[in-house]
Amino acid sequence: MKITPIIGLEVHVELNTKSKMFCSCSAEHFHVDPNTHTCPTCLGLPGALPVPNKTACEWCIKLGLALGCTPNESSFFERKNYFYPDLAKGYQLTQYEKPFVINGKIKIGDQEVRINRAHMEEDTGKSVHIKDNGQELTLIDYNRCGVPLVEIVSEPDITSAQMAKDYLLKMQQIIRYIGISDADIEKGSMRCEPTVNLKIEDNDQVFYTPLVEIKNVASLTGVQTAIDFEIKRQTEAFKQTGEVKSKNNKNTFGWDADKNQTFLQREKEGSSDYRYFPEPDIPHIEFTKAEIEAIRKSIPELPDQKFSRYQKDFGLNDYDANLLVSDINFSQIFEKAIGQNPTPEMAKFTANLFLGAIKTYLNESQESLDINKINPEYFKNLFDSVTKSEISATVAKQVIIESYHIGQDPVVIAKNSGLIQVSDSGEIEKLAKEVIAANSKAVSDYLKNPASIGFLIGKLMQASKGSANPKLAKEILEKLLN
Ligand SMILES: [Zn+2]
Repeated sequence: MKITPIIGLEVHVELNTKSKMFCSCSAEHFHVDPNTHTCPTCLGLPGALPVPNKTACEWCIKLGLALGCTPNESSFFERKNYFYPDLAKGYQLTQYEKPFVINGKIKIGDQEVRINRAHMEEDTGKSVHIKDNGQELTLIDYNRCGVPLVEIVSEPDITSAQMAKDYLLKMQQIIRYIGISDADIEKGSMRCEPTVNLKIEDNDQVFYTPLVEIKNVASLTGVQTAIDFEIKRQTEAFKQTGEVKSKNNKNTFGWDADKNQTFLQREKEGSSDYRYFPEPDIPHIEFTKAEIEAIRKSIPELPDQKFSRYQKDFGLNDYDANLLVSDINFSQIFEKAIGQNPTPEMAKFTANLFLGAIKTYLNESQESLDINKINPEYFKNLFDSVTKSEISATVAKQVIIESYHIGQDPVVIAKNSGLIQVSDSGEIEKLAKEVIAANSKAVSDYLKNPASIGFLIGKLMQASKGSANPKLAKEILEKLLN
């Protein structure tokens, strides 16, 4: 029996526009008092008229273009009818027939996941469960009602939980690069619903298990664990019942993060259950070719392009280039540090500092870099000094952090701290003689086994307080001992 998981992802992203999707209320809903950002439109009061937020529509198209999608010539909004306490109108405004953009793709390593569509809709309110005098109460906060939401639907091209995670990380990168949302999964500004079933090949027969949509997954790890759990659960269920997929229906399962398992919420649900129909109060929306091109031009260099450029121009390997482009802020700061038209050597040297000393420091201190405190001249001076062997690579790592903090040239810091490398052979020879005199055992070891010279070099470096040029130190020791 051969089992292949078939996984699709629906990703919801809250746009960080100033106002909501169909009214002028502020779209800020984190850290504000409940029900303070509401009006008759987002509360769905009779007679209120929705007016689409133009920026939000443009951002949906911008994301679509960044994902290689094609814009539809004409789009419109539809009502998706369903009842839920946090949906005051009894329907959600979304796009069903004609989404803003269709048919894109995301590259993950050597693989590709096709994007079916990206459409614009509005978020719902939030239910808050509290305990009051021992009584369990549910309160509703409508601040989030009507916040612009883009839904991106992939084709079911994903075949593992790891690939699903990589897809989400790539999506998050692209969204952050174009600056339309902070796409924070833990916070809830990016949410994801995996759809999972299995293709089971047994001898000459092929079966597909019932389609399951998993709701309420609130972290990247959760997505991975939930998919893995569901693959196992469906495998077992198929072995026991042999139940296969029915046409156009899917079962909705919730994710219980405490128990690490999925549970059935709704059975056999299809799109016809929602009775979609066009919103009569909003005309069709058409963007001209010129408008679409203007949006396309506003898209900055994306992670894949940056990755290729770093490899081509700076000779960085896959791993390093990937680390640098994965966070837009980090890569912008790196690009400021290398300055205009750096040589590949200079860029590579700086990349090593960023991925080594600077990243280690940031991880330990939990700080983030301030781009305004980055001076490309300092990085250039440091590079030149290391190239001329005035400063060792080890010292460079030490002084760069201090330089960032106190805003001083790292080469000046190194000079003031006596960390300039000694390349004066007379001085090194003097130290070498002292080291040889004081370490007779190591000297006789060396005479038997020349590879053990490292110990004596170490002693010499110590005696020079790290300032001796190690290459020269080795040469002089060898000269004296042979
Ligand atoms: Zn409103």
